[in-house]
Amino acid sequence: MSVSHCMKQSLDIARTPEGEWPASINALPETCAHSDCGAPRSCRARAADYLRTQWRIRRLLEAKGQRRG
Ligand SMILES: [Zn+2]
Repeated sequence: MSVSHCMKQSLDIARTPEGEWPASINALPETCAHSDCGAPRSCRARAADYLRTQWRIRRLLEAKGQRRG
C-alpha cells in the first residue's frame, strides 16, 4: 500500500507532541503540487481532519484506560 506524500505529512505530524499539531497544520500548504495528493479539498483541510480523528481516538483510548485502571 502506498502512502501519498501528503498523507505521510499527516502521519509525521501525528507522531509529534499534540501541542505542536495546530502550528504544524497551519504550516501546511492549502494546495500542493503533488499529483498523488488525492485531497478532496486541500492538503491542510485533509491533514486537519485526519489529526482531529487521531485526537478523538486518543482521548477515547485514554478514557478506556482510566476505567480499567
Ligand atoms: Zn497534497
